[in-house]
Amino acid sequence: MDKIVSLCKRRGFIFQSSEIYGGLASTWDYGPLGAELKRNLKEAWWRSNVYERDDIEGLDASILMHPMTWMASGHVTSFEDTLADCKSCKKRFKVEHLVKNKCPECGGDVTEPRQFNLMLKTYLGAVENEASLTYLRPETAQGIFVNFQNVVNASRKKIPFGIAQIGKAFRNEVTTGNFTFRSREFEQMEIEFFVKPGTDEEWYKKWVEDRFDWYIKFGIKKENLRKRPHEKHELAHYAKSCTDIEYKFPFSTKGARLPDGQGSASGGGWSELEGIANRTDFDLKQHMNLSTKDLQYFDEETRERYIPYVIEPSGGIDRSILAFLTDSYREEKVKDEKRVVLGLHRKLAPIKAAILPLLKNRDEIVKIGKSLAADLRKSMRVMYDDTASIGRLYRRQDEIGTPYCITVDVESLTDKKVTVRDRDSMKQDRVSLPQVKEYLLEKFE
Ligand code: ATP
Repeated sequence: MDKIVSLCKRRGFIFQSSEIYGGLASTWDYGPLGAELKRNLKEAWWRSNVYERDDIEGLDASILMHPMTWMASGHVTSFEDTLADCKSCKKRFKVEHLVKNKCPECGGDVTEPRQFNLMLKTYLGAVENEASLTYLRPETAQGIFVNFQNVVNASRKKIPFGIAQIGKAFRNEVTTGNFTFRSREFEQMEIEFFVKPGTDEEWYKKWVEDRFDWYIKFGIKKENLRKRPHEKHELAHYAKSCTDIEYKFPFSTKGARLPDGQGSASGGGWSELEGIANRTDFDLKQHMNLSTKDLQYFDEETRERYIPYVIEPSGGIDRSILAFLTDSYREEKVKDEKRVVLGLHRKLAPIKAAILPLLKNRDEIVKIGKSLAADLRKSMRVMYDDTASIGRLYRRQDEIGTPYCITVDVESLTDKKVTVRDRDSMKQDRVSLPQVKEYLLEKFE
């Protein structure tokens, strides 16, 4: 993990927020490469779930919502962590992670458990009082529920159908740490998939498989991913069933929920990337009661009116990024030299191709490289770099996961071809200049 954290800072994936002031605990900024990776991840998720299906619509709801929303969802009354501090090592744990009421790390005695509400408060308008109090949303889901009727009316979608949203969420987490794994401001990618009651468990199972496969498709190694159904006592107040997709992170899982016998709170590493829950009709029913608006769905075929059940695949962008970075990191020996590679999936890689002129003092070579870069830029994110020897340039690109490096050499002047090197196999292809773009685009399809 230390290697990932250091790579992230050095190469500009992730920085500590407000670092020049000593940092703000558990908040993070994405640097130039991190911003690209994040965009690519969101794009991959949106494409898979919205564009490649015909039963999901997108939404972009605001972060600030009417405070009644959070009364209805149950967050005001029950979005709490119960925590206890270890009297010996001073670390703080959720009570469900204590081992026989002792510290899971050092076995020491712990303090009386205390309740913490995780909602971040804010005030709207000029006067700070109860009437102006609202919250920074702790999940994006509620923006979807309160817009359910709007989306049905506007899109004329028939059940089963879903609404997808990517956006910021805020939680005043008390047990933080492990880099970006649990932060106070983070992004979620959530789908609320509305189904007819009675078909809910079937859809739930489908979504668990679908979401598991998605992470594998984008490069997570199978042995590092697992599905963990929740025990009854772990279920959130709104859930009938829930399965976590867990990734085997290379750090202590302090603060993550681990059932008995599945790893320890100080070693296992298995932690939630995404939860798929059967939320039943809990949320729509609650909003219907508190808003007194009819949120039932009318099935034109059967002439039935009912409140749909909801299956919710809810994942974190930041946790996924951490998992993709960790999973793709590898160190290899090439001709007795260490090669660090981020083997990111091509769709996720921040830079798709790097153009590297072999001789930066030969104007004709530089000219070819720069004009190739300018042309490729219209279709993908590329980088032009001539600031080191070719060996160094390759290493730099391998380390940030650039799938293709293109070198322009003396021969290019006569044969009008360039060499395209594949990051993983290191195999080289000689490609004619006018065909480079097509060659690359084909690889990215
Ligand atoms: P945990 O118990 O690990 O904090 P959770 O069960 O509270 O997670 P959910 O409410 O199910 O999380 O949120 C859905 C997803 O949002 C999680 O799977 C995770 O990827 C992401 N997420 C939740 N809280 C955080 C956080 N504090 N920082 C980063 N990502 C988060």
